[in-house]
Formats: sequence, structure tokens, C-alpha cells
Amino acid sequence: MKYKRILLKLSGEALMGDQQYGIDTNRLLQYAEDIKGVVESGVELAVVIGGGNIYRGSQAEHMGLDRVQGDYMGMLATVINSMALQSALEKSGIHTRLLSGINIQQVCEPYIRRRAMRHLEKGRVVIFGAGIGSPYFTTDSAASLRAIEIEADVVLKGTRVDGIYSADPEKDPTAVRYENITFQDVFEKNLNVMDMTAFTLCRENELPIIVFDMNKRGNLRRVTDGESVGTLVSV
Ligand code: UDP
Repeated sequence: MKYKRILLKLSGEALMGDQQYGIDTNRLLQYAEDIKGVVESGVELAVVIGGGNIYRGSQAEHMGLDRVQGDYMGMLATVINSMALQSALEKSGIHTRLLSGINIQQVCEPYIRRRAMRHLEKGRVVIFGAGIGSPYFTTDSAASLRAIEIEADVVLKGTRVDGIYSADPEKDPTAVRYENITFQDVFEKNLNVMDMTAFTLCRENELPIIVFDMNKRGNLRRVTDGESVGTLVSV
């Protein structure tokens, strides 16, 4: 077991599967199974899930609505995804707690760092909903911040690509995948790993990030077992 405590970031969009909107049940169940495998191996796991499959704050501006209002709508979207993941995990026998950055006490606990740490120590999967609870941030930033707060060993960014490439592999056939790369190189080459706020938080706190393909069954376990899957960003 390479990592004792990890923070897994999943995008809302990945939950859509092949759909145009919402939650694909098969994808959700695959994620739950993969998370179960890792938790049963003894790793403490926290999850931050995005909301892009339902709503993003930037959409509000395009619709002529208020941006801050849109951001709160996006945060609520992450809570919906978090509840779906929580339910899928509990169905497969994993104990979970959902902690939200905005108070919604009928459905989840408020985010309290000490409580999150205690849940993790007890082997529960902790799901952080509503990002960091403030507008103008993203769930990538929430992933970095919460990971630092709970003293995670690594942020695992589960995506639909198998790592960080020198160029967009869907557009450029000469693009190569990095196995290891430094924060400095990511910055200088202007590679897209996370938004700058999220990236800077990890960099300044020397918290490694692994970008990997979460849609490949068993990949999450390979990463936590220390196999070289995806791209490791470190100092
Ligand atoms: N959001 C926010 N503050 C946060 C986290 C999220 O305002 O701390 C809002 C923001 O509008 C964002 C939306 O919630 O667009 C959904 O999150 P995100 O775009 O990060 O989801 P993903 O792209 O990972 O699906």
C-alpha cells in the first residue's frame, strides 16, 4: 500500500457516461466498485465530485443570470452527485459520510475538518459536497484544499484520459504522455492539469497529483498500489 490517505477528485462530466446530461448509473456503479476495492485494501479515502454534468456557474452568465447565483447552483449540483455516489457506495456495503461546504442539514453534515479526519480514521469514505462553499471556485480547488486540510498523501484526479500529454492527444497524433512531471514543468509548458488556483495550492504545499483514467475498471486500485498509471506531478 503506497498511500495511507488519498483524496479522489471526480468530475461531474465523467458521471454522464455517454449521456448528454445527468448521471449514468453504470458509470456510478463502476466508480463505487472501484472505490470499494481501494477502501477494503485499507486506504483511507475522501472524494470530491464536480457538478458539470448538471450545472456550472459559467452557464448562468451565458443565460444572462447572476454569476454568484449560478455558482451556488453549481455547488448544489455537486451535492446531488455526492448523494448519488454515497448511495451507490452504501449499497455496496461501504460506510460513508457526506460533508457539505454549505449547510443542508437534512441531507448531510456540515464540513468540519476534525470530524472529517475522525470519519477517515474509522474507515468511512468521506464525500465533500458543495466544493469549498464559496462562489468563484471550482471543485478542483476544493479537492486541493480539502486534501491539504485532511493531510492526504496525494490528490488523484480521475478523468477520461490516461494522463497528462505534451499536447491534446485527440487533436495531435505526435502528443506524448508524461509518466512523471514536475510542478515547474507543468507551469512552464502551460499544461492543463487543474485550474491555476487548485494547481498552486498543491504546488505550494508539495502535495503530489496523479492524473489517471478513472473509467478503466481497476485503475484506481492500480494507482493506490503504486503502479505507474497515468501521470504523477510532484516537486
Ligand atoms: N462551484 C463553486 N465553488 C466551489 C465549487 C464549485 O462556485 O467551491 C460551482 C462552480 O460554478 C462550478 C460548479 O460549482 O462551475 C460545478 O463544479 P465544477 O465546475 O468544478 O465541476 P466539474 O467540472 O468537476 O464537473
